[in-house]
Amino acid sequence: MPVLSPNSADVLLWDSSHNFGSSRVWHSLRVRQAKVDWYKLVWFNGHIPMYSFIVWMLCRGRLQTKDRLSKWNIISDSKCVFCDACETVEHLFFLCPFSATMSRKLSSFCKDFHEPRGWSNELQRMVNHGHGNYFSSKLMKVVFGCAIYLIWRESNDWIFNNKTKKVDSLILYIVNLVKSRVCRWRRIPKSKGNWLISVEWGFPRCIFDR
Ligand SMILES: [Zn+2]
Repeated sequence: MPVLSPNSADVLLWDSSHNFGSSRVWHSLRVRQAKVDWYKLVWFNGHIPMYSFIVWMLCRGRLQTKDRLSKWNIISDSKCVFCDACETVEHLFFLCPFSATMSRKLSSFCKDFHEPRGWSNELQRMVNHGHGNYFSSKLMKVVFGCAIYLIWRESNDWIFNNKTKKVDSLILYIVNLVKSRVCRWRRIPKSKGNWLISVEWGFPRCIFDR
């Protein structure tokens, strides 16, 4: 199968196998690489594309936090907008008091309370918990994406629009957003664990399998 190269001329090929399809073309053109262990945190049934994109950027090390911009001399101030520490990925997600408060509250709602220890640890923790399509792991992945997106958006709002929000109002926003998403889910097994989580979030009973 052809491999795309900017240095060679295009060639017309005739596929006479009678099983031509866009899927075959895609698989023949794409470069296959080893699977990363965090891919299920980004792409899963029920993911929210806008949030998944930021999670993907973060997992790929592509978010331009202030420490990076200051190393490239684009900015001179590398202070976190929420506190006085240097804004690194490790700090912003979820060591910073602002994001740590959010993380503690949300992990408690998910019945997975833990003290946040920075991005690398949180990512590994989610990789370990995020396998399968279980209600609790799916919920944790949606919440994880929401939290990352909103922390990043809030940090940018603070810098570019001089807008500030209290962490409690962001938590409330996440709770309402997650509730509206989960209300569309159906046939969730009615286990004790799932029930306790749903009580914590205030999910309706109709999401459970009858
Ligand atoms: Zn901070």
